[in-house]
Amino acid sequence: RRADTALHRAKAAGGNETAFFETAMGDAAEQRFRVERELRRAIPAGELRLFLQPQVDAAGALAGAEALVRWQHPERGLLAPAVFVPVAEESDLIVDLGAWVLTEACNLLARSEAAGQPVRLSVNLSPRQFRRAGFVPWLRHLLSATGADPAHLTLEVTEGLVIDNLNQVIASMSELSALGLHFSIDDFGTGYSSLAYLKRLPLGQVKIAQSFVRDVTEDLNDAAIVMAIMAMSRTLGLQVIAEGVETQAQRDFLLQNECLAYQGFLFCKPIPIEEWAPLLK
Ligand code: C2E
Ligand code: MG
Ligand code: MG
Repeated sequence: RRADTALHRAKAAGGNETAFFETAMGDAAEQRFRVERELRRAIPAGELRLFLQPQVDAAGALAGAEALVRWQHPERGLLAPAVFVPVAEESDLIVDLGAWVLTEACNLLARSEAAGQPVRLSVNLSPRQFRRAGFVPWLRHLLSATGADPAHLTLEVTEGLVIDNLNQVIASMSELSALGLHFSIDDFGTGYSSLAYLKRLPLGQVKIAQSFVRDVTEDLNDAAIVMAIMAMSRTLGLQVIAEGVETQAQRDFLLQNECLAYQGFLFCKPIPIEEWAPLLK
């Protein structure tokens, strides 16, 4: 296990590296093993919860929501994804977790459509889940089994998805786009990838990362990056959504630059799906 921990560290440092085991690594590894073991039990035990964070248009009207997972841990309370999603992403657990989230989201879509109040949902998709053989037919089946309208579903992918196997990724994305599904690039500008993929992938939306939005009114560099992303997206015909919008000043800056969609604590925090229905009214 210690050798495995050191190997893990070497890979995380970029691979082709040597790493020695140290006790502090052992604690972190221990913690990871524990989370992984508990999560494996928690998913079938029904301890995951779905939260929704509203997305609004330039006028502040509800336009959709992002689905965000939480873990209602029996002893540790409600856990944020930062505690368990990265651990899940290192194993096949992310596939089970992602399947649970997508199933919940599609059921919710179908219910909202049946109630005549359709929402648009964005769901985070891990590269590992997307690359897995059989994902596309699985999702197609889920959509038809739940009756959810694919046009109401957006999959949020990250730049890491396109690092390798670009042709396979394009083929899968195109197949899903043909069903009516939309794609959004999450945390845009924070990964390591080329801009070339923007015109090759069937994308509909670019999400400006919170890290750029945070200081947009004080830091000229962040302001320049945000303006550049918006200008580029407009030209490429991509919708832009800004995330992590917390202050009126940030919103004003984005509005001046003709941003059309917003998400952040200024409008609403993520809320449990049980509390979603009243908000629709
Ligand atoms: P993300 O997809 O970029 O989601 C946005 C995160 O920013 C959410 O954190 C949200 O609660 C937070 N946020 C929204 N508005 C504000 C704001 O105004 N200020 C601040 N400070 N934060 C804001 P959360 O829910 O903790 O999720 C963190 C990350 O975990 C997500 O980042 C996503 O990468 C991952 N994640 C969440 N749910 C899922 C899931 O179902 N599947 C996968 N694969 N990953 C997920
Ligand atoms: Mg997201
Ligand atoms: Mg994001």
